[in-house]
Amino acid sequence: MINFIQKYTESSIIPSLSDFIRIPNLSPQFDNQWQQNKLLERACNHIVKWIENETVGLQIEIKIMQIENAPSCIAVKFLGNQQHNKTILCYGHYDKQPHFVGWKYGPTTPILENNRLYGRGSSDDGCVPYAIIAAIKALKEFKQNYHDCYLIVEGEEESGSHQLIQYIQMLNLIKIDLMIAIDSGIVDYDRLWITNSMRGAITFDIKIIQTENPFQYLRILLNKLENSVTGEVNSKFQTIISKNSLEECKATAHLVPLEFPMICDKMEIDHIQQYINRAWKPSVSYIGGLEDLDQYNDTLTIRISMRLPPNKDAQEASEQLIELLTTQQSKIEIIQAKTGLAVKAFSNELKNILNDASFQYFSNEMRMFHEGASIPFLNSLHQLYPESQFLILGVLAPDSNAHGPNENLNIEYFNKLIGCLAQIFTSQNI
Ligand SMILES: [Zn+2]
Repeated sequence: MINFIQKYTESSIIPSLSDFIRIPNLSPQFDNQWQQNKLLERACNHIVKWIENETVGLQIEIKIMQIENAPSCIAVKFLGNQQHNKTILCYGHYDKQPHFVGWKYGPTTPILENNRLYGRGSSDDGCVPYAIIAAIKALKEFKQNYHDCYLIVEGEEESGSHQLIQYIQMLNLIKIDLMIAIDSGIVDYDRLWITNSMRGAITFDIKIIQTENPFQYLRILLNKLENSVTGEVNSKFQTIISKNSLEECKATAHLVPLEFPMICDKMEIDHIQQYINRAWKPSVSYIGGLEDLDQYNDTLTIRISMRLPPNKDAQEASEQLIELLTTQQSKIEIIQAKTGLAVKAFSNELKNILNDASFQYFSNEMRMFHEGASIPFLNSLHQLYPESQFLILGVLAPDSNAHGPNENLNIEYFNKLIGCLAQIFTSQNI
């Protein structure tokens, strides 16, 4: 099957994905002319057209859903033919991050080099609809059955997925057995990586008012939030890591390289604890605002981003922040608060399927990865179908440069991932 997938990727996916890279369709947040220039619409139509051409003879329904003032959303239904048909929902997005500078060839110049396809949107997240179609086509080619499978490709993930839930509700799906979101990171290209937790995030402003020395007062407040020597965040924002997740972290830590700025003293020397800190502990970063200093009114505003443990409710954390840091001299304004995600444990059947697939295509067991970053829409999806199992996959290794210059798709990993997807779609007991 891998030979079929390789050939298909080469002959059909790479040419079309390259044309997708040529379209500079930034996410709405980064292009306020998107409704006039219709670049998102062009990208959406490009994908739909490719799907239509490639799926002749397959039992599918394609529609472009449209909510007013939002980018369209692609929905494809593949009618399954399993004896005990289950329902799978797959997710991807077609909007892109801004281009930024520093590209070797340019963000909209697709180049295939060393079996990597370079260009903005190649791996985040343009490759997803191509991967799903390729998996279904491979199963069809080898006369293997598959479950009912929905694919949804939205156009505003990089802007906050504001209409995603409404779009999914428009599909009227009663029950989902398995959700697969392909938009996450991986650690290396040696195995099937599954993301099992993401941290939440709160962005907020601290405004210091009417005090002789706003800097000194700010320092007092920040000390309440985190220990200035160790970086340990106030215990109100700490949570307990489940036994299952702790075991996974211990099993995976040695595979995950952690980089530290050269000037920084490490809070922890133990590598496992460093990894757990990044994935499961809150942390505070100062992301701006000092330029708003108004010397004449003695006011000072600073913007802070705080990562939250995957199982900490962002609303609760916001209230705790306000309570902790509001005084007569200070105000707190919450800009954004998003809860992270702690995926519930998979059934043994699904675990076995994933492991078998990883062995078949990578000759290595799969591993669960606890991601320290945040992807806010994942939690909303999880809430929408809490009964469903939730599989978070990706193609983005550290050298894939998602969101940075020289974003690229590792074609070998991509092909193996397609093989794994096909195996999941065809397995009876997902
Ligand atoms: Zn993405």
